[in-house]
Amino acid sequence: MQACGELLLVRGRPCLNLKEAAENYRALLDLSAVFGNGNPVKLEVGSGNGGFLLELAAREPETNFLAVEVCTNVILTAMERTRTKGLPNVRFLNIPAETIPCYIPAGSIEEIFLNFSTPLPAKGCERQRLTSPRFLSIYRDILVPHGRITQKTDSAVFFEWSLVQFAGNGFEVVAETRDLHRSPYAEGNIVTEYEANFLSQGKPICMARAVKIV
Ligand code: SAH
Repeated sequence: MQACGELLLVRGRPCLNLKEAAENYRALLDLSAVFGNGNPVKLEVGSGNGGFLLELAAREPETNFLAVEVCTNVILTAMERTRTKGLPNVRFLNIPAETIPCYIPAGSIEEIFLNFSTPLPAKGCERQRLTSPRFLSIYRDILVPHGRITQKTDSAVFFEWSLVQFAGNGFEVVAETRDLHRSPYAEGNIVTEYEANFLSQGKPICMARAVKIV
């Protein structure tokens, strides 16, 4: 594969399919070298300003955290906040989730967090949703055996659709609630920026935990 102006050439033809490009052009990270230790690594996809990940990183200093976020402005805010807090166990990837296979080695991630991913309810947008089969295939590859995904969303439609996708794509849903804040799972829950906003509007929050079937 070679770079050709704006386009990537995969096997000699122009390629705008990010997953295909990622599969053909890997620059895999040595996560132990990146973090300076061999601690387990957890990943948030679509981390926004980083409020959730920074709080979790402070609570779990023996775990490493990777933030994947496509939007440069918000990831920069998260990086500044990490520096202010002096957290040594957080790193950032300013990439679209489609290119995760390019950078993150197979079987290297303990848990993936999908917090308030854009629900994209319109018909025809299914492929873009972060719980669609093509993303679940990427997550399966990078997760350790029995690794898990924790999803939170305010969108009931996206939630029900995601449960079906988990079950049909190599994951077992081991926990679910359609009103997180009135459930036993509320204890220890870290409220994300989007979650705080939805809570202030009185919206119930859905949460699911899905484990990779080996
Ligand atoms: N998790 C945060 C932000 C939720 S908004 C919170 O709960 O407060 C959803 C975030 O996902 C946005 O910051 C958006 O830029 C990011 N995002 C959407 N699609 C993405 C993709 N394909 N890859 C990486 N990040 C994505």
